[in-house]
Amino acid sequence: MTEFTKTDQNRIKRVPERGHYDRETIYRILDEALICHVGFVENGQPYVIPIKFARVEDSIVLHGAKASRLLKHVEAGHPVCVTATLVDGLVLARSMFPHSVNYRSVVLFGRGRPVEGEQEKLAALKAITEHLIPGRWQEARLPSRKELNATRVVSIQIDEASAKIRMGPVLDEQEDYALSVWAGVLPMQEVTLPPMRDELLQEDIPVPEYVASYSRKRT
Ligand SMILES: Cc1cc2nc3c(=O)[nH]c(=O)nc-3n(C[C@H](O)[C@H](O)[C@H](O)COP(=O)(O)OP(=O)(O)OC[C@H]3O[C@@H](n4cnc5c(N)ncnc54)[C@H](O)[C@@H]3O)c2cc1C
Repeated sequence: MTEFTKTDQNRIKRVPERGHYDRETIYRILDEALICHVGFVENGQPYVIPIKFARVEDSIVLHGAKASRLLKHVEAGHPVCVTATLVDGLVLARSMFPHSVNYRSVVLFGRGRPVEGEQEKLAALKAITEHLIPGRWQEARLPSRKELNATRVVSIQIDEASAKIRMGPVLDEQEDYALSVWAGVLPMQEVTLPPMRDELLQEDIPVPEYVASYSRKRT
């Protein structure tokens, strides 16, 4: 199925023309986003927790300490809501009201399960590392059995999802176009600064190409 079914839960009601339900659009945003936020309710209290992640086919995988409340909650199969957001620009209108942000965001719903077994755990950890920085898994020392045992890994099946995308210019009221106020879009993207060598790095190790040419843009 190339499109997620629209339900009462994932159907975009506010500005519905900005909504997208096709997997390609939704997965492209998820793959470009560095982090996600996981929302869940425990004892009637909502929590929204930021965390690294990776998409593996139709699931999201997360990892962390065995003691993580979030991961224990997800592992137990409770419903969760995950969001990922990319900010593409500030939309500066002539009047305050239509000020906006150009963005691409995803909201998804699902339930978690534990990821167990050495091979499945390693595959999930590889996906999370490669989501952060492709090429790193090949170079760094892989987790030992002890480290693996101390790590909780969970997977969330994406049952429902939507993307919402705002792009384009300022949308001012007709009469405001005559105002002498600067208006336009200030484009934005996530960029890195020059890499900083670890103080204890052996001198003869150069910056790897995958670090030097790092970009969040995904093809
Ligand atoms: C960076 C950024 C800044 C924003 N700033 C504002 C702001 O200042 N004011 C404002 O009102 N709105 C803003 N939005 C839009 C906001 O995310 C909501 O879409 C909007 O507020 C409507 O919320 P709602 O619960 O009434 O949506 P509804 O349309 O009722 O939501 C129904 C369903 O649509 C889906 N959905 C809703 N919003 C999104 C989304 N953003 N991405 C993917 N799926 C979604 C969810 O599945 C949700 O359950 C911003 C979005 C982003 C990404």
